[in-house]
Amino acid sequence: MAIQSFSELDLKPELLQGIVAMGFETPTPIQSEALPIALEGRDLIGQAQTGTGKTATYGIPILQRLEPNRPVQALILCPTRELAIQVAEELTRIGRFLPARALPVYGGQAIERQIHALRQGPPIVVGTPGRLLDHLRRGTLSLEGVRFLVLDEADEMLDMGFIDDVEAILAETPAERQTMLFSATLPEPVERLARRFLREPARVRVAAPTLTVPAIEQYWVEVRDREKLEALCRFVDVEDPGMALVFCRTKRGVDELADHLQERGYSAQALHGDLSQRERDRVMAQFRSGQLEILVATDVAARGLDIEGVDYVFNYDIPQDPEVYVHRVGRTARAGRSGVAITFVTPRERSLLRLIERLTRARIERRAVPTVAEVRERHFRALAERVLDALEAGEGAPEEEEAQAVPEAEPDLAPYARIAHELLEQYESEQVVAHLLRMLDTGARSGALAEEEPSGPADFGDTGAEPGMVRLFIDIGRRDRVRPGDIVGAIAGESGIPGSVIGRIDIYDRFTFVEVPQEHAARVLRAMRDNQIRGKSVNIEPARRDR
Ligand code: AMP
Repeated sequence: MAIQSFSELDLKPELLQGIVAMGFETPTPIQSEALPIALEGRDLIGQAQTGTGKTATYGIPILQRLEPNRPVQALILCPTRELAIQVAEELTRIGRFLPARALPVYGGQAIERQIHALRQGPPIVVGTPGRLLDHLRRGTLSLEGVRFLVLDEADEMLDMGFIDDVEAILAETPAERQTMLFSATLPEPVERLARRFLREPARVRVAAPTLTVPAIEQYWVEVRDREKLEALCRFVDVEDPGMALVFCRTKRGVDELADHLQERGYSAQALHGDLSQRERDRVMAQFRSGQLEILVATDVAARGLDIEGVDYVFNYDIPQDPEVYVHRVGRTARAGRSGVAITFVTPRERSLLRLIERLTRARIERRAVPTVAEVRERHFRALAERVLDALEAGEGAPEEEEAQAVPEAEPDLAPYARIAHELLEQYESEQVVAHLLRMLDTGARSGALAEEEPSGPADFGDTGAEPGMVRLFIDIGRRDRVRPGDIVGAIAGESGIPGSVIGRIDIYDRFTFVEVPQEHAARVLRAMRDNQIRGKSVNIEPARRDR
């Protein structure tokens, strides 16, 4: 029986707390179907792609039934190291209030480190077949205690030629185990594997309903997670959407995005299930009356809302379910209006986009994030329009204006006209107007203009660097196993400055100093904001002499 809410499952409080902390509001379709079955201990074949919430689909039942202090109770096989790392992180995060760490084990990482980590007896191991087999042969991993076995992206795993390795690993696990297989497609080799190693498995797939999307313009844009905010701001600046509805996956995501947008000067509000009815009504009233340009919402909060006149729908996070896609984009183009839907897709989520396209038969065209030049163009044109509007209003209502559209009381221009005259006697008219425009200009809200026009090298005071350089402080150090190459790679990669111009690097136990040329310092600081080095979020700031 499908569930509507995680609270219908009899989960440990710590686990439920972890799910809430992840910001999951409701189960995704695959979770809704598969969780009750998997929690019973039945074998399972889940037909689902990455992005549908499949990791939590097998992760939650495993986390629920782990026993304390027993090593390697769950083994998850993944085709690639990226997936192994991602799965281990996701499970560790969901299980953060439980004693339930997941260790990723993959080729390419120093084997001694893995041996050391395996000795600690992690309850969950997530690995790629080759490296797992290596550990089995060395005797550094024992699978005797495995009670849960997952084959993730089984079709990929077989495509990559891992079948023998997978079989060899499965042979080392106890017969008394729950086996779950997840795969986007179920070709014969995957079915054969399932027949051999699963016992009367239940089958769950994300149903393929026939879906029709109203005739609106649909686009997708490839972005990385950390580029999403800037991308959204540029779209809003360039397209000037009027009313935009932005969907995020989680409540926390909604809150964070609304905060970031407000910080940048957009009128944006969050809408999600944690708001009281009164708060919701207030936000909705603001949105309907046009006081808000952007409403950021979760699917649950937006369900059942009847909002007229939404011009743009942004899928800041791509929906995991094609049906949700249809529901979301259907919020625009109501009452015969034209609408635009723009979906942000990270490289990992391409398959999800294809699924949506296939099931909805929608034509979703690719678009690029507006460039700095486009943002500038639009920004300055808007400035010119403001002046033109004022000029036209000042000249009295032109004949074609409708009679009742008389502008408000005409500004009394006389005192200004006198000053204008004086100024124009002394200066070139172009110069005067340009200065006035700059004074009117409140700046663009996306970061695009700031990036293009640095206000000269910023002064960071005495940072203790060599002449011409700025010394930066980063709160990551030897303790985090950071090496000079990591620092150079992160700075050069994120800011685009050549690695060769990066100066002296001093790594201490808990922090690091790095020198960069003065003219690039502001750019580096901007680029490194919200970024990570060696998987850890870092704080970076100009050093102070006294530190
Ligand atoms: P996966 O298909 O496991 O790669 O999951 C894709 C993304 O969806 C991950 O970022 C998960 O954290 C997220 N996710 C999984 N389940 C849910 C849920 N019930 N609600 C919202 N997000 C979810």
